Amino acid sequence: MKTCELFRDHTVLSFEIFPPKPTSPEDTIYRTLDGLRDLHPDFISVTFGAGGGANNQKSLEIASAVKHQYGIESVAHLPGINLTRSEVLTMLEQMQQQGIENILALRGDVLPDTQPRGEFRHADELISFIREHGDFNILAACYPEGHTESPDTVTDLRNLKRKVDAGANQLVTQLFLDNRYFYEFREKAELVGIHVPIEAGIMPVTNKKQIERMVQLCGVHLPDKFMKVMNRYEHQPEALQDAGIAYAIDQIVDLITQGVDGIHLYTMNKPYVARRIYEAVHRLLYA
Ligand code: FAD
Repeated sequence: MKTCELFRDHTVLSFEIFPPKPTSPEDTIYRTLDGLRDLHPDFISVTFGAGGGANNQKSLEIASAVKHQYGIESVAHLPGINLTRSEVLTMLEQMQQQGIENILALRGDVLPDTQPRGEFRHADELISFIREHGDFNILAACYPEGHTESPDTVTDLRNLKRKVDAGANQLVTQLFLDNRYFYEFREKAELVGIHVPIEAGIMPVTNKKQIERMVQLCGVHLPDKFMKVMNRYEHQPEALQDAGIAYAIDQIVDLITQGVDGIHLYTMNKPYVARRIYEAVHRLLYA
């Protein structure tokens, strides 16, 4: 099923997972999926490291298992920055063979010591290429606070529009911790003519190091309210986890109330955290 068709009658709930590190036992991901299965997400997306690496071969395998073994629609992430056209073609063929219909088409991060292959300079080029070579539903990433490389949010929105014009028919945001950024972004996106569903990416923060890394990577603004929670409980892991989950639930309830198209939960492969959030909000998705 093409996931863009899910948005008709309810608020979509999707999960994101990542392949286990090569040093972790392979079956850890299946234990994660066992724990997520009965939360009935609308779809699960599987990340793919732009830097390459052995666990990338696993991404497609896991996306296929999500669909065929677990009976949940899957989305395969595909960052183009370090791939050639012929490598992407091979991957598209593999996806077709495995019945994967949905691709989150990304540029990928520019890595400090890797020269990009240069065949897909931006996600819009990859999106056009995928459009030409198969009948896929294409998702793209967006940034309520602006992408870190963009000079300003208007430029970033113009570039986002290119992705939609190239054929992305569904968007997922980077995490944010202050919903006001999302509402402003959604309004501006509408004004520049972006009318596809936008899912809000929510990351339940359960340790302080995790968020410090995210800020460094993605330039996410940390609201005072959030920092007070982190500072108060940083040395009490269980309390911090409870507070992080409560914070995410608070964000999600507000987003659903304000008519968000969908919630994309960055599960960090922690079914327990996803379950607590699901239990708190699942009735609201269809209300
Ligand atoms: P682009 O859309 O190409 O944008 C990158 C920058 O270039 C932006 O500043 C944009 O404004 C600008 N730009 C865009 N198009 C043009 C153009 N035509 N001309 C000039 N400038 C342009 N990374 C991974 O490696 N693997 C993953 O699995 C992964 N999953 C992700 C999932 C989500 C939901 C999100 C939000 C991000 C994910 N990322 C992943 C991270 C992503 O690869 C990085 O954020 C990357 O830096 C940008 O990717 P993009 O597809 O948004 O790039």
